[in-house]
Amino acid sequence: PESRLKKPNWIKMHPIQGPKFMEVTNLLREQSLVTVCEQASCPNIAECFSKGTATFMILGDLCTRRCPFCDVPHGRPKPPDQLEPLHLAEAIQVLKLKYVVITSVDRDDLLDGGSQHFMECVKSVRDLNPQVTIELLVPDFRGRLGVAIESLSQHPPEVLNHNLETVPRLYKQVRPGADYLHSLSLLESYKAGNPQVLTKSGLMVGLGETEGEVLDVMKDLRDHEVDMLTIGQYLQPSEHHLPVKEYITPEKFEFYTEKAKEFGFLHAACGPMVRSSYHADKQASPLIGN
Ligand code: SF4
Ligand code: SF4
Repeated sequence: PESRLKKPNWIKMHPIQGPKFMEVTNLLREQSLVTVCEQASCPNIAECFSKGTATFMILGDLCTRRCPFCDVPHGRPKPPDQLEPLHLAEAIQVLKLKYVVITSVDRDDLLDGGSQHFMECVKSVRDLNPQVTIELLVPDFRGRLGVAIESLSQHPPEVLNHNLETVPRLYKQVRPGADYLHSLSLLESYKAGNPQVLTKSGLMVGLGETEGEVLDVMKDLRDHEVDMLTIGQYLQPSEHHLPVKEYITPEKFEFYTEKAKEFGFLHAACGPMVRSSYHADKQASPLIGN
């Protein structure tokens, strides 16, 4: 087997602790809510939870796909929980969150890909928390794009995020079941119908992509009117997942940030520990006047 690369010192894992962290995790258990922070073993979990930020995962914690970089379990998901929109809204109210990210697994089993449930969650969260800023991090709704765009346009979020994850050459290996051009067209169609909503996408690097390929993806994103970008280091969640091919240096991430500005992104967060939802509030707030 391939020997694992040693983690360089710029990869910082924060210990999970603190009263705020306990408060958040206890509440989530009580409301039977799931966070991607816990599911994906996100290295920023202590920092985000202690600030009262979390990325909620709706529509269950079993995915119909099996991407080899991802820590979400695969299986046959349950029907959407009708109470979830309300529970989500209540948890956000209790935790006094100002910026929430709502995401889901892929629900290839549902005719609308789960888009109606997303819409109901946005509505319910807004009803109870009129001040909150909402970012949706959506799956690709392949085969259901029309109906999904329609649902998600009924109660639009402030930010619509959909991650490309990697460069097109590596899709077969990293994102089987997804399609690069389809994902770009999701971002473009949503923006066309909802020009006031910021669109956002992200990449993991360190999977064997070249610098030129990353720059090509940036160009494609701008050609599809995408406003915001995140790029972070891929970390292998376990030995059963795709290995890290390379640890990208902080200097290279700075270079990507500069390039992103040149391409015209309104905001770009590129760094070893950056995740799609990391400091999501700081990424979007200056752009939406909060
Ligand atoms: Fe959760 Fe995102 Fe923070 Fe990770 S970066 S802990 S997924 S909010
Ligand atoms: Fe993970 Fe998303 Fe792939 Fe499902 S579709 S395995 S949640 S990355």
